[in-house]
Amino acid sequence: MEYEGQICRSPMERGSFMLPVSVGCSYNQCYFCMLFKHLTYRELPLEQIEGELQRVKRAGGNPETVFLGDGNAFQLTAGRLLAILELVHRYFPACTTVNMDATVQSILEKMPEELSALARAGVSHLYLGIESGLDDVLTLMHKDHDLAQAYTAIEKLQRAGMVYDAHMMTGVAGRGRGEENARALAQFYNATGPGRIVNFSLFIHRRSPLYRLVQKGRFVPADEAENLAEERILLEELAVPVEYDGFHDVIPVRVRGKLPADREKMLAKLDAALAVQRAAAPLVAVV
Ligand code: SF4
Repeated sequence: MEYEGQICRSPMERGSFMLPVSVGCSYNQCYFCMLFKHLTYRELPLEQIEGELQRVKRAGGNPETVFLGDGNAFQLTAGRLLAILELVHRYFPACTTVNMDATVQSILEKMPEELSALARAGVSHLYLGIESGLDDVLTLMHKDHDLAQAYTAIEKLQRAGMVYDAHMMTGVAGRGRGEENARALAQFYNATGPGRIVNFSLFIHRRSPLYRLVQKGRFVPADEAENLAEERILLEELAVPVEYDGFHDVIPVRVRGKLPADREKMLAKLDAALAVQRAAAPLVAVV
């Protein structure tokens, strides 16, 4: 199958077989996100999905974990997802786990019994973009949810037996608000218990709606030193066991590990990176 889009998924999914079931993102309105702005969202026909499964099976593939693409695969109706899951299990009998990206609204739109049926059919990890713990930031970034809705959606999916994982972005609150955002996010994560947190630290694309906010003076980006300091506070404050992986596009810093066991090692790595950034000219991630 020819892939349309830009692959961007959690590093924890690197061993999963990626099966596209849609093209683009059904929402596609987050101001910082340029992954799918050039694509018109559409669901892929079941015949095309089955053809891909047949191709991989013929090549000897029988993966244990499948990741459904693309930007918000959980937007598909429960009926369509169950039909896809039935195909996955038919062609890949070894498959025990199916993961995908989701939005808060795509969970809220489903009935509890639909979520339970999806969990029984193998859906395990849903990755949610919980980029900020501050409602005004979520509004400014044009996210599809507020924090109250996120709490409700996460409780709903956890009750159904699924695991929620969080995508976040240090820097998303802008200059001078890194610490506030880190503490708010830590509070949110400590209350909701994600299995995994992936931090793609904010970088601003010059063609993005967020860049227009910068030009209008409605958003002032933080520099990388503040982003690292934000990340450090978050890692200090996280009180739940969680697997963490954090990247910064414009500086070669990647901090990953399991909390609480790896906390001190991760903080030491951030301290070293912070010392370098504080000694250098301020660097703002605009590309
Ligand atoms: S929901 Fe995700 S993929 Fe869609 S626009 Fe927002 S960040 Fe991008």
